[in-house]
Amino acid sequence: MPKIDYLRISLIDKCNFRCQYCMPEGAELNYVLNQELLTNQEIISLLQGVFIPLGFTKFRLTGGEPLLRPGLVDLVHEIAQLPETEDLALTTNAFLLKKLAQPLYDAGLKRINISLDSLNAKTFDQIIGNRGGSRWQQTWEGIQQAHQVGFNPLKLNVVIIPGLNDTEVLDLAELSIKRQWHIRFIEFMPIGNPELFGDKAWIDSAYLREQIRQKWGLVESNIKGNGPADVFQIPGAQGTLGFISQMSECFCDRCNRVRLSADGWLRPCLLNETGQIDLKTALRNGQDLAKLQAQINDLLLLKPEINFKERDSGTDGTYSRTMSQIGG
Ligand code: SAM
Ligand code: SF4
Repeated sequence: MPKIDYLRISLIDKCNFRCQYCMPEGAELNYVLNQELLTNQEIISLLQGVFIPLGFTKFRLTGGEPLLRPGLVDLVHEIAQLPETEDLALTTNAFLLKKLAQPLYDAGLKRINISLDSLNAKTFDQIIGNRGGSRWQQTWEGIQQAHQVGFNPLKLNVVIIPGLNDTEVLDLAELSIKRQWHIRFIEFMPIGNPELFGDKAWIDSAYLREQIRQKWGLVESNIKGNGPADVFQIPGAQGTLGFISQMSECFCDRCNRVRLSADGWLRPCLLNETGQIDLKTALRNGQDLAKLQAQINDLLLLKPEINFKERDSGTDGTYSRTMSQIGG
């Protein structure tokens, strides 16, 4: 088992997009009330008093859409300043990134992952559930701005959905050739959207790789991340292609992360709710941090048993909570 030293912190469960695979229409979304969100100060107390002493050094801010969180730049600054922080990253849809990229970079954020499922404005709007004017251009400008201020590596996350954007695999992969951009294809997971895409909504990474291999060739890359992606490269390309294949291949035995939800629940696994701990209530009730640390340590020791394989899904094999609620 790898050392568990990576905490994904969800800052908010609300979002300015409604991606079909993440917050599908009809899904019951009971947003966390503002007073139930962990405050910046509570997040820092948990990092200093609990997670860092347990050996956590890598943090990723996510959501919902983290750029909607008030006080985000200050929080980034505070986490970046902690001497134990080895890695601080953020995952965003980039819609608000044009203005925020520079302040976030200056505050100490060095790595960013951006979700971009299509280069076609119409398809993009369809995927993100947009009914007003197109949101593609502003998102693209956010990505360009992140590139310009110097975020490196810059990773683009793509979820390929049959019938929606599966004809764009090569166009999206091509973005890795001339720029040092890392495109990561994530297999769609049936979370919070049981009926949405029928029996098989996801496409195996192996099939995507085959399409790319036939067009340009594909080799394993020397550049590896610290996450679950299998990393490849088009020969001669500046960037890489990552494949996160949680549906076709189980990678639980490589998992080095736990998740903190926006309302303070610690989850040992994305799809398995066993053993969750309510850190917000503990903190607000003045529970001793050393005791909390011991409780979390016990949960970390149990983590190898708590994984996708043993997931406690509904009887139909799907999950009621959406990714935006869990904090993807
Ligand atoms: N709003 C931000 C964004 O979209 O990048 C951060 C939160 S989002 C929940 C984090 C990641 O989860 C995104 O890359 C998104 O594509 C992915 N995601 C959401 N729902 C998913 C699903 N059902 N299957 C696979 N990936 C999903
Ligand atoms: Fe929002 Fe991100 Fe979910 Fe899309 S994937 S609805 S951008 S939280």
